[in-house]
Amino acid sequence: MENNLQISKETITLVTNCEQECLPIFQKIDAQCEQNSIKVLNSFHKNRINESHFSQTTGYGYNDLGREAIENVFKDIFQCEDALVRNQFISGSHALTVCLFALLRPNDTLLSICGKPYDTLDEVIGLKENASSLQSYGIKYHQIDLLNNDFDYDKITDYLSHNKVKVIEIQRSKGYSTRKSLSLKKLEKVIKLIKKIDKDIIVMVDNCYCEFVSSQEPTSIGADIMVGSLIKNLGGGIAPNGAYIAGRHDLIELCAARLTLPGEGREVGPTLGINKQILQGIYMAPSVVAAALKTAVLTACVLEKLGYEVEPKYTEERIDIVQSIIFKDENKLIEFTRGIQQASAIDSQAIVEPSAMPGYDDKIIMASGSFIQGSSIELSCDGPLREPFIAYMQGSLTYPYGKIGLLTAVERILNN
Ligand SMILES: *Cc1c(COP(=O)(O)O)cnc(C)c1O
Repeated sequence: MENNLQISKETITLVTNCEQECLPIFQKIDAQCEQNSIKVLNSFHKNRINESHFSQTTGYGYNDLGREAIENVFKDIFQCEDALVRNQFISGSHALTVCLFALLRPNDTLLSICGKPYDTLDEVIGLKENASSLQSYGIKYHQIDLLNNDFDYDKITDYLSHNKVKVIEIQRSKGYSTRKSLSLKKLEKVIKLIKKIDKDIIVMVDNCYCEFVSSQEPTSIGADIMVGSLIKNLGGGIAPNGAYIAGRHDLIELCAARLTLPGEGREVGPTLGINKQILQGIYMAPSVVAAALKTAVLTACVLEKLGYEVEPKYTEERIDIVQSIIFKDENKLIEFTRGIQQASAIDSQAIVEPSAMPGYDDKIIMASGSFIQGSSIELSCDGPLREPFIAYMQGSLTYPYGKIGLLTAVERILNN
């Protein structure tokens, strides 16, 4: 292979040999991709998607046919009552925030049953002081940690038997933690338990990075509402920004009123010409998620061969598109991340440095040479500069670009 990334023969041989080992897993990923593609196509057909849906609104954004069609498409893919898919959501974190503020009232309790939620929610909940947090409105928060990478069913039962809880938040993907991501099987079990104790508790799922990895989504196994980002899986690398909230109709109405304003809710929200990109993004999403999964599997296999601890292992079931590599070495984390940046299409000349980021505690190193700023369905790699120096790698719009990124990153850790 001719390349100007200066990858050695040894690295190419290592990665190509690993690729052979991964082929049976790739076949399963392709089968999953086909299933999800059928799901997408069915929902396009059911909602009679046509060229008029590419039109745009400006100003208030009344009567946006494309926006309504997109929300119906998402609703059908997720097999739920309703969905809100908006470019007015800045990102997944914003949609999670809107959802929490929409569902909770003063004196209500929010319970997290998988330990501390995603870092950007610290100030939203009030775990870190912020004058606009949920806590500042008198909303209480409690958390129950996971036990051996599963829900602590006893503690949850005990807490719910003695306390009134309004919303339970479950984050499937691991975020910047060392735990495993949570499978739908575990989710289904815990939701059954929760509903048996109190059927009125709202189960809210942070579904970031998990869409189209399995054949089902949380809303089809009992979750009341779920949230995800369009610069991750479902945007297919094409949606320029935005997020979705999907689930029960009454809850979606509350979220719409919080995102815009009570009285106007979902009726407003100009799409400014992005309807086609959102539709094309969801159309591409099954294949893009498959490319990301293959890249993750190959990465795990290669780094396992090199003696690093990885999570998940290359043969393990995948819950999301994130691959952790536990480097236990600050320099290797930095060099690997630099390799990913070096093989990016955009900003490949940039030498990434650890730096402070709004919403995060530790310095973060981040490779994201992406078409869309911060898009992590595109090949990207990031991690906080703290023990045990874990790289969280995800994405790739195509498998070949993912493989080239991996080759470059591996070359760098072998030489530095
Ligand atoms: C990425 C992520 C978020 C936040 O989404 P953004 O679009 O980056 O704001 C929230 N939760 C989890 C688990 C995530 O992985």
